[in-house]
Amino acid sequence: MSILWRSQALAGAMNGRPVGTLPQGVTGISIDTRTLKPGEAFFAIKGEQFDGHDFATAAIKAGAGLLVVAEGKLPAMGRIAAPLIVVPDVLQALEATGIAARARAKGKIIAVTGSVGKTTTKEALRCALGAVGTVHASDQSFNNHWGVPLTLARMPEDCDYAVFEIGMNHPGEIRQLVKFVRPHIALITAIAPAHLGFFKSMEEIARAKAEIFEGIERGGHALLNRDDRQWKLLEKAARDAGVEHVWSFGEHARATFRLASCELGGESSRITVKMAGQEIAATVGAPGRHMVQNALAVLGAAYLAGADASKAAAALSGFQAEKGRGRRYVLSHPAGGQIVLIDESYNANPASMKAALQLLRSADLPEGGRRIAVLGDMLELGVHSQKLHEALAKPVVDAKADVVLLGGAEMQALAAAMPQGPATQHRTSAEELKPLLLETVRPGDVVMIKSSKSIGFSKLVEALVAKY
Ligand code: ATP
Ligand code: MG
Repeated sequence: MSILWRSQALAGAMNGRPVGTLPQGVTGISIDTRTLKPGEAFFAIKGEQFDGHDFATAAIKAGAGLLVVAEGKLPAMGRIAAPLIVVPDVLQALEATGIAARARAKGKIIAVTGSVGKTTTKEALRCALGAVGTVHASDQSFNNHWGVPLTLARMPEDCDYAVFEIGMNHPGEIRQLVKFVRPHIALITAIAPAHLGFFKSMEEIARAKAEIFEGIERGGHALLNRDDRQWKLLEKAARDAGVEHVWSFGEHARATFRLASCELGGESSRITVKMAGQEIAATVGAPGRHMVQNALAVLGAAYLAGADASKAAAALSGFQAEKGRGRRYVLSHPAGGQIVLIDESYNANPASMKAALQLLRSADLPEGGRRIAVLGDMLELGVHSQKLHEALAKPVVDAKADVVLLGGAEMQALAAAMPQGPATQHRTSAEELKPLLLETVRPGDVVMIKSSKSIGFSKLVEALVAKY
């Protein structure tokens, strides 16, 4: 493993006090002893539930090269059998390391925010840019006050591209995080009613996302969704923030990176994109119109980052949706025939529900096969929750769902709002829905499983995968 940080540089970046003999360098940065690899530096971050200082011994056992700990915790920790860097505050030390990583970076930095599709777009960028250079990108959805500094701190000095997911559920969060990232390109995927419980309106959500413009490097680019209702607000916000180049992607005739043609398939989509005076063709390896939107954003960002857009486009054919975010399983039924399962169990809000239902509608059904929508609660919608759950009735009908299985307390509202037609059943939890789902599914069916993560619908995915 090569050295990511020389220990001296690390201690200097965070203005920390070395204790014991530091190794020459560390191979990575970790805040979690379960995933820590030998030779990495362990930062003892204090989270909501756990305090990293309680895991010092575990970090040493896992082979940490050094530990970054808080001065105030030292007396209680006793003798620690590893070299230390002692700081006043470990989260601030991680931020300082991130800032130092950014200062030494030579590659193009891309920041991705939005209400939906951040991780998917970030992973698609990793895939596309991987064809033209070395890419560093956020792990999972590491997009918050520790995830962003951690991703920065882990950035290799010489990567060609770095892609950061930046999230928020309160105003002010993105402003803080983008100052660390200082992107050359800031991309907003879409504005949708996610976390609406914390906001008064969609405009307010859009304004919070627009904070990302404040951190764009001089001479940098904003890339916006031209099809989004909040496009105008965002475009003005970008200009007001002094962003020099504002671009857009979408189906709209005026989009800079414009969808010229699109064939949606059950497994992938074929598109052509008009951009910079040329037309680029691509196969997007994951199905759905929302994936096409994400692909447009990816090609735009790749182009703005100076990458060869044709090569980046060609790589998108190999893009696969992530687990919980649209991953597709083809299961074999013992009686013959197949069941297609689409795993959307990681996340749900009104926009992503609609995207998933459109995907269900465009699924290729064999003779006798049915569309089965298995939908769970969309959380964090506050006072709008009931209305937004009821409003799913139309997209469910439009999706031509034959069977609708609903789970969770909030989904009661949709169960009550569903018209005659699809066979609809409701249960209060994933656990209660499981036996019903298992006895319902037949060969030829396409099953879409979608809900907010904490409703536990990933258990339904696991149950089907285990059975078939
Ligand atoms: P989080 O805030 O939880 O990190 P995220 O913004 O990273 O979410 P993803 O995990 O990429 O979002 O996607 C969540 C779901 O949103 C996907 O499973 C898919 O259903 C849907 N989705 C992805 N891209 C789009 C899009 N461009 N428009 C609408 N829905 C989308
Ligand atoms: Mg995410």
